[in-house]
Amino acid sequence: MQVVRAAFFGVSCWRNYQKRGQDVGAPIMRKLIFFAFLFSISVAVTASAQQSVDSMLDRDIASLVSTYKMLHAAPELSHHEEKTAAFVASQLRALGFTVTERVGKYAEPEWTSYGVVAVMKNGAGPTVLVRTELDALPVEEKTGLPYASTVKTKNDAGQEVGVMHACGHDIHITSFLGTAKMLVALKDQWHGTLVMIGQPAEETVNGARAMLADGLYTRFPKPDFALALHDSGDVEAGKITYYPGYAMAGATSVDLIIRGLGGHGARPESTKDPVIIAAQMVLALQTIVSREKSALDPAVITVGSIHGGTKRNIIPDEVTLQITIRTYKEEVRQQILASIERIAKGLALAAGVPEDRAPILKVIENENSPASYNDPELSERIAAAIGRTVGKDNVIKAQPLMVSEDFGYFSLDHQIPVFMFWLGAVEPAKVEASRKSGKPLPSLHSSLFVPLPEPTLRTGIRSMTAAVMELMKK
Ligand SMILES: [Zn+2]
Ligand SMILES: [Zn+2]
Repeated sequence: MQVVRAAFFGVSCWRNYQKRGQDVGAPIMRKLIFFAFLFSISVAVTASAQQSVDSMLDRDIASLVSTYKMLHAAPELSHHEEKTAAFVASQLRALGFTVTERVGKYAEPEWTSYGVVAVMKNGAGPTVLVRTELDALPVEEKTGLPYASTVKTKNDAGQEVGVMHACGHDIHITSFLGTAKMLVALKDQWHGTLVMIGQPAEETVNGARAMLADGLYTRFPKPDFALALHDSGDVEAGKITYYPGYAMAGATSVDLIIRGLGGHGARPESTKDPVIIAAQMVLALQTIVSREKSALDPAVITVGSIHGGTKRNIIPDEVTLQITIRTYKEEVRQQILASIERIAKGLALAAGVPEDRAPILKVIENENSPASYNDPELSERIAAAIGRTVGKDNVIKAQPLMVSEDFGYFSLDHQIPVFMFWLGAVEPAKVEASRKSGKPLPSLHSSLFVPLPEPTLRTGIRSMTAAVMELMKK
């Protein structure tokens, strides 16, 4: 209907343009009417693009849902995305993209990077990158779904683990492939170079870096813009949320090794007990967040694991704390690292630990990721375009989050405007019930996380197609 209306409006503008031209000849009026005519054409094009996306989706949705279920049942861990990557590559190749596989170089030479880069050149115009992740998590699925994963495999440390797409990267891959198909079908309505990438190892936050290190921006066209979506375990399917600016925190992984002098558990006076220092340390660390930095700079310090000792009656030589730090600003991150080191050394000194057994702070560089900064102008432009497709009321500005992603690497430290938005994935009735009962929904990474496939995929594909069209339309 929109198309017909816009076309009708366009014809009447054109008639007016001709008539005014003859009758009055007022140049300003002529110009105004001419622009109205051009505008009507662009509305008609947008409306027809939207209409064809909707009818293509109606036709394809059943097969997209089966693709999703197939991917869901066959998850692969970070650094092992071999079959997923091969599937994505073959689909993109069949759509006419020029596809390169195994793009990426990890710092660890024994790992293979299963990055996929698919390029479609369509005349002069902007270069836009769209990214999906490929990896799943070491989580044993407990959803009870008929298409639940029963995959078990060995992780990098050789332990047997269950594997699940508990972060919804299977939703991302399917939306990404659906978007690719829509954009190929709409090829006469956009121009420029489309670069669609399947990124491995997002959960271990080293896949983006591996692809960049292997010439993602030199061997392949460097993007003017980069886009991604991530499903949300809190938001209803059918809705999109986003935040312009710093949207997700940077993550820094550190190990703090607290060394003491071990000995008999019954004779603590002859030891320097690192368990006691570790216990003090866990509490003292929280004063960094509450007392040492501005309350206006968000940060989290979490000690996620403590390991030390072998037996009840032995005081160990050392205890290791595994810590994650979440921050937005680099200076806050540096300040927190310095504070952890200072407090650890101070507590060890107070306990009488000799200087040559001072604590060691190790930053695990290949597990770090930068804060995700959504370029504000790009965010608002894309959010408005998505709103025109899925309805303005379904696009909601949300709060930034302290979780992390490695998508920020693709911005090359804010040089390239990037935007990642959140895709609601939960059955609306469940969101409503959780709001009423106050009982939280299963979060991303939970063994019970269940996205609602069809409406989530529809919204994902419509949104990402609209986002790319906004940047590349003729
Ligand atoms: Zn995740
Ligand atoms: Zn994820």
